[in-house]
Amino acid sequence: MAADRPTDTADNTSSDAPRRLNFVQQIIEDDLRTGKWEGRVATRFPPEPNGYLHIGHAKSICLNFGLARQYNGTCNLRFDDTNPVKEEQEYIDSITADIRWLGFEGPVLFASDYFGQMYTWAVQLIQDGKAYVCDLSAEEVRAHRGTLTAPGTDSPFRNRSVAENLDLFERMRRGEFPDGSRTLRAKIDMASPNMNLRDPAMYRILHAHHPRTGDHWCIYPMYDWAHGLEDSIERITHSICTLEFENHRPLYDWFLDALGIYHPQQIEFARLALNYTVMSKRKLLELVKTKRVSGWDDPRMPTLSGLRRRGVTPESIRTFCADVGVAKFNSTIDVTRLENAVRDDLNKRAPRVMAVLNPLKVVITNYPEGQSEELDAVNNPEDASAGTRRVPFARELFIEAEDFMEDPPRKFFRLGPGREVRLRYAYFITCQEAVKDAAGNITELRCTYDPATRGGDAPDGRKVKGTLHWVSAAHAVDAEVRLYDRLFNVENPDKVEEGQDWKDHLNPESLRTIPAAKLEPNWREAANRASWTDEIARVQFERQGYFALDADTAKAGRPVFNRTVTLKDTWAKIAGK
Ligand code: ATP
Ligand code: MG
Repeated sequence: MAADRPTDTADNTSSDAPRRLNFVQQIIEDDLRTGKWEGRVATRFPPEPNGYLHIGHAKSICLNFGLARQYNGTCNLRFDDTNPVKEEQEYIDSITADIRWLGFEGPVLFASDYFGQMYTWAVQLIQDGKAYVCDLSAEEVRAHRGTLTAPGTDSPFRNRSVAENLDLFERMRRGEFPDGSRTLRAKIDMASPNMNLRDPAMYRILHAHHPRTGDHWCIYPMYDWAHGLEDSIERITHSICTLEFENHRPLYDWFLDALGIYHPQQIEFARLALNYTVMSKRKLLELVKTKRVSGWDDPRMPTLSGLRRRGVTPESIRTFCADVGVAKFNSTIDVTRLENAVRDDLNKRAPRVMAVLNPLKVVITNYPEGQSEELDAVNNPEDASAGTRRVPFARELFIEAEDFMEDPPRKFFRLGPGREVRLRYAYFITCQEAVKDAAGNITELRCTYDPATRGGDAPDGRKVKGTLHWVSAAHAVDAEVRLYDRLFNVENPDKVEEGQDWKDHLNPESLRTIPAAKLEPNWREAANRASWTDEIARVQFERQGYFALDADTAKAGRPVFNRTVTLKDTWAKIAGK
């Protein structure tokens, strides 16, 4: 579906949109004008496969793949798999799948495929007197590093001969030394005001099994050394990363200049931060490991797989990322903006069905026993092509318990004793009596209906203010409904007071499960009228919110729905109080 392509919907690049360039686009257009990269645009998205992708990564994915699409360039999905201790195949698979789901594709590459070339380049730097093997322990290195205000001191191993360095480095590679006993360091400047330039480590010894290179290597390259080389090998033009790497750029440049190899331009932008959300992979992993959530794809997680399972569409994520834009300064974005992007998209596309989450029985006393009929219901008022379906109506129905009050205030436009409302697509009904059990709980409403109001208004012009959703009791399908809400109940869960833990901010009401909600029988027919780029069935439960069918459905033997988002922002009210 062409309209689903991100270039058409998710950024300001379509030809009829006003062309306000973000600062990265500005740089690229200047470069294209001056012919700096022979007219090429080559970006990359470089995840470390040590966790699942989250909404913050989506911003970088949309930016990098989006630029490639916009400027007819390329974007590599490059796994930065340089730390075998934390990396797993499961993460590689999920990342690949999530990027495709988000609507992007590109060559899949692995930094580990360049380990041989990186090693050769390290030898070159040693030969040029620009790198040395250092025997200081991690702690000693730290002690020699100095501080922001005091210069560091040279390592006693800094002036080893080239021959000795070559020999030791070769023996490091062969596995002669234990983990952590030696490093290869760049020989730059221990007095540099930029701490990153104080002889940074290039290689460490780590006898660890790598998911792709197995036991071939027992030395692994450090990020700062490896990243620029990866970009250079792939002939990246614009190496876009987040602001924390601004201070690392001089090092990125130093390595590439020292080697005299192809030299991409590093550009930094602000990472995405959302309120009510933690985004650190370490914290997300902790939530998974401590079973605070059901897994990386728990619908409350800010991971792409969690958002997908929750029912969020890739289109709304792309719209959100485009809307947030690309900036040079860090800020926190209100998660409501993401929720609104999801609402807007689902409002346009999700078919409407009726489901009663907290059922109260209604008996229509003047409707013949044993009779039923079918009424026409509109599948999506925002999309006439979604058509209509039939909804069965009979003497016994369910409505939401919240839609009845025994002693309603004046502004309550739903049911109360003697009050009349419209049942959506059906009839006007009037409540005649509320039946109670011995404990005084309302167990059933006895109502009458007006046959003349079928599917429309009263012929005598009589008006009702409320319209309720309902489901015929005899035809209802039981469904499990999982009402998800924000995972944290404070704006900044990362901020903790003394003696507190960030996990103390978890919202205890982030999941409420309804085991047997009552769903209209033809919901599937309505759901099938929408087309999504993934296989997930999404619907609006009228007056309740947007819901997505969960993969647990098969094993539950009944439909299982996850609430994606409520119809309106219920948190704004809470925050206002
Ligand atoms: P860590 O390196 O601590 O494991 P990370 O979030 O940086 O975490 P990476 O796998 O290195 O994880 O990230 C891949 C890419 O995604 C990087 O280029 C990074 O700049 C970008 N990225 C990560 N988090 C965000 C974010 N919140 N907003 C925008 N881009 C992000
Ligand atoms: Mg990182």
